[in-house]
Amino acid sequence: MSFISLGLSPALLRAVSAKAYLVPTPVQVAAIPAALQGRDVLGSAQTGSGKTAAFALPLLQQLENTASESPRRARALILVPTRELCAQVGEEIRALAAHLARPVKVSIVFGGVSINPQMMRLRGGADVVVATPGRLLDLVDHNALVLSHVTTLVLDEADRLFDLGFAEELGRILNLLPAQRQNLFFSATFPPAVQALAQTLLRDPVRVEVLPEPQSQPDIVQRAIAVDAGRRTQLLRHLIAQNHWRRVLVFVATKHAAETVADKLRKARINAEPFHGELSQGKRTQVLADFKASRLKVVIATDVAARGLDIAQLPVVVNYDLPRSSVDYIHRIGRTGRAGESGVAVSFVSVGTQAHFRLIAKRQGLDLQLEQIEGFEPTEVAVAAGAGPDPATGGIKGKRPSKKDKLRAAAARGQTPM
Ligand code: AMP
Repeated sequence: MSFISLGLSPALLRAVSAKAYLVPTPVQVAAIPAALQGRDVLGSAQTGSGKTAAFALPLLQQLENTASESPRRARALILVPTRELCAQVGEEIRALAAHLARPVKVSIVFGGVSINPQMMRLRGGADVVVATPGRLLDLVDHNALVLSHVTTLVLDEADRLFDLGFAEELGRILNLLPAQRQNLFFSATFPPAVQALAQTLLRDPVRVEVLPEPQSQPDIVQRAIAVDAGRRTQLLRHLIAQNHWRRVLVFVATKHAAETVADKLRKARINAEPFHGELSQGKRTQVLADFKASRLKVVIATDVAARGLDIAQLPVVVNYDLPRSSVDYIHRIGRTGRAGESGVAVSFVSVGTQAHFRLIAKRQGLDLQLEQIEGFEPTEVAVAAGAGPDPATGGIKGKRPSKKDKLRAAAARGQTPM
């Protein structure tokens, strides 16, 4: 299958080849022809599947075929859950629009930065608006933008829009849009809120469900390492040095942990920065730019960074703290091994998080052996109140070892199948 056979215009084919996209990805093969026919699309696709181009190319082709007004009225609206995804999607659309005969103006608007420059840039209008919901409504309230001419609405990472509490804003935005429009709707998962929205929003949609085939799955080696919780930073330093890792994205559970681990690494002369929701937008942008330009070796992030970020050549992701859910696990490890590159995803598992890891592994159908690294063999065992662990069994002294105790003891010897 080639891009030409999907029915794309010469200007868009030029842009695709300038981006060095040789063949369309499965989600592009399935979604582009349907969207070009004006059909609604309900897409479920893995992170890194190429879904941005899957909705951006047809949307741009429709703009190309219709004259732009003056002043420009937004004709395509793309709603995304995070600032980073907003910038990333907007940049991809700009690149794909680069060769169109009539220039397409793409406005990228998100919260956390001053609204005034965004209002200035919207003077004279915009053809395509990529936005986070809250800031979009602020701009509408300031009369900087009207949505009454939108002919295509894209919801990108719809599940995440709900996770982040945008339901009310979404409702308001939908009321501002013309009823007659095309809807392109992408989500990694379909919880009830997303299903309900899809049912009310979409008209006879073409369902695009790209199941990952073995050969199209990102090439990610997954590892799980048993380590005492208190020795994780040391182990991280050891792995970075031993494996000569040049660029590592480390996930932790809290902003505080992001700050502390980054601090400890810096004290060990490893160039590291935290990345979380409480940093200013300027700082977040700078950390990402430094990371992408290899001025930073390690970024310690909360789940703010788990979705949508596209950092080319990110070889290693480390789960310093395990993610809360197996879906988050997939999003985190999806940061590496993107667009055909290989990657390594390492999870640190302490005695306290073993059960949780087993659950994630089971949900993902992973069959991972819990490894031990020489010099970092775990010594901790689960302790019940008032009783000490029995070093021989890993169980509690004075009790017969339970099935769990036996599993723990086996894990400590590095034999637990995960
Ligand atoms: P996305 O799922 O839209 O975030 O895309 C993931 C990555 O795949 C991005 O780096 C895109 O630039 C890249 N990409 C998208 N489509 C293609 C394609 N047809 N061939 C190669 N890379 C692609």
